[in-house]
Amino acid sequence: MRPLILVTNDDGIVAPGIRALVEVASELGDVVVVAPDSPQSGKGHAITIHDPLRLNKVKVFPGIEAYECSGTPVDCVKIARYVVLKDRTIDLCVSGINHGNNLSISILYSGTLSAAMEGSLEGIRSIGFSLDNYSFDADFEPSKPWVRRVMEHSLAKPFQPGTLLNVNLPNLPADLIRGLKVCRQADDRWVEKFQEGRDPRGQPYYWLGGQYLTMDDGTDTDVWAVKNGYVAVVPAMHDLTNYRAMADLQVLENPAGR
Ligand code: MN
Repeated sequence: MRPLILVTNDDGIVAPGIRALVEVASELGDVVVVAPDSPQSGKGHAITIHDPLRLNKVKVFPGIEAYECSGTPVDCVKIARYVVLKDRTIDLCVSGINHGNNLSISILYSGTLSAAMEGSLEGIRSIGFSLDNYSFDADFEPSKPWVRRVMEHSLAKPFQPGTLLNVNLPNLPADLIRGLKVCRQADDRWVEKFQEGRDPRGQPYYWLGGQYLTMDDGTDTDVWAVKNGYVAVVPAMHDLTNYRAMADLQVLENPAGR
């Protein structure tokens, strides 16, 4: 039986990146798409609880069952799991291909990766894919063989419990992609900068911009890999416990603790 592959993203169901992902996924399994009806980049792990969600069956991809959802990427995975596919077993959840990289700590802000993380929380093997090009017209063709390689491996081999894969693809022609590296997440930051202005009614507004700051010069990071022409694969997890810090805090458990 062909595996069932759930496809979602955060750039919206009409973004070229999800089309590329659907094309690869449909070579490997039966595909169902549940994706946002509007751009949801930067929504992280947000969910919708004060408004109802809308779900419409749409014909966006030839021959593929697809739904657009009014919610966030995480809403899409939840509604796919518990409504659209409630009677079926999802073998793989893939999100993207995002227009723009999701390297380093971007995993915390990215709707693409949060959708994959939500899949992993449901015990589904899940992968987020991102191309290092923010343009709507980005060329996803060179990424496809690598996307396929990671998806095939993920369908064949079980994941460690609670694991998702964060895959970043370099924006290069096929013959210049040097290979694939399994990496750690670089320890980088965004330095935020708000642009201030006045709206047409004279009210002040603040518009978040910012600059990506590389502080980690390791050669084993996702940032290094993509900058040097490799596909970066970071195994990630939702467990944010800092196990190394637990011992330092043990004194709190002792009422007379010092
Ligand atoms: Mn996006």
